[in-house]
Amino acid sequence: MNEFELIRRYFERPAPSALLGVGDDAALLRVSDNKVLAVSTDMLVCGVHFFADADPYSLGHKTLAVNLSDMAAMGAVPRWATLSIAMPEADEAWLEKFSSGFFALADVHDVSLVGGDTTRGPLNLCVTIMGEVDADLALKRSGAKAGDEIWVSGNLGDAALALAHLKGNIVLEQEAFLACANALHKPDPRVALGQSLCGIASSAIDISDGLLSDLGHVLAASGVGAVLDFWSIPVSEIMRKHIDQEIAKRFILTGGDDYELCFTVPASRHSDVLEIGVPLACIGRIVQGTGCIVMDGAERLAVESGGYDHFR
Ligand code: ADP
Ligand code: MG
Repeated sequence: MNEFELIRRYFERPAPSALLGVGDDAALLRVSDNKVLAVSTDMLVCGVHFFADADPYSLGHKTLAVNLSDMAAMGAVPRWATLSIAMPEADEAWLEKFSSGFFALADVHDVSLVGGDTTRGPLNLCVTIMGEVDADLALKRSGAKAGDEIWVSGNLGDAALALAHLKGNIVLEQEAFLACANALHKPDPRVALGQSLCGIASSAIDISDGLLSDLGHVLAASGVGAVLDFWSIPVSEIMRKHIDQEIAKRFILTGGDDYELCFTVPASRHSDVLEIGVPLACIGRIVQGTGCIVMDGAERLAVESGGYDHFR
């Protein structure tokens, strides 16, 4: 199987939302009237973002999911993706499963794979995703104002629990591990939620590097500070069981790979948020100033603010 057969077999699929998809020197895409293009890239590197023996179907899912999460965080409708792969050899069984996982999620969100690049090298997966959004309604990091409420979707910290179990830092029961492993390996990006927040949220970000780190980007971009109530942060039953351990608090606040949305809304829009129909929790307030403090009742929780940073 040569490079071009490989692309044709595993990555060339009908791309109904493109004028021209895989197979030429470039794809041709038409953006809808009155919309702008939202473009984002995320790379997954073997040994950094996943283990070499990672299940290829889940890896295909996650490679696209982390990119869809960025579209969600902008309130954009994802439309097109490119996929660049470096791999040590053309392992057909691996490619079959990887591409199945990728396309299964692409189909859920009506995303067309329109191009990419395929080369030999250490395993490395890179997606560029493109979506459409109203320029005026795109959810940016820079719109949070003092007095706004801070919200998050879903539960935080389960992916970090699964990773800690895999590394032998904590021990989960089998069933609990499987549930957390699902959060780690097959995140469900909040694409519909992001779109629902357009016109309501004053800012948004997806939580990929940990709540404090990602919220920190919103605070810096908006020139504001935040006060969080630790016990309002939503967690799973599994996390609840481990919450007395210091390490659990760290996973909730700084664990990565959650792919939930963190967003701010003016207090006057509180009831609009409640109507969205996705599990959401109000975890604090934007205040004047800088930085984020986390309250544990009346006490201030001592936390290391950093999330994952590749170069620290
Ligand atoms: P070129 O040499 O002109 O850059 P390539 O040989 O790299 O073209 O790719 C041929 C076609 O296959 C292009 O349309 C490219 O976008 C597409 N392609 C290559 N690798 C992938 C991939 N992993 N997934 C999807 N499309 C791909
Ligand atoms: Mg090329």
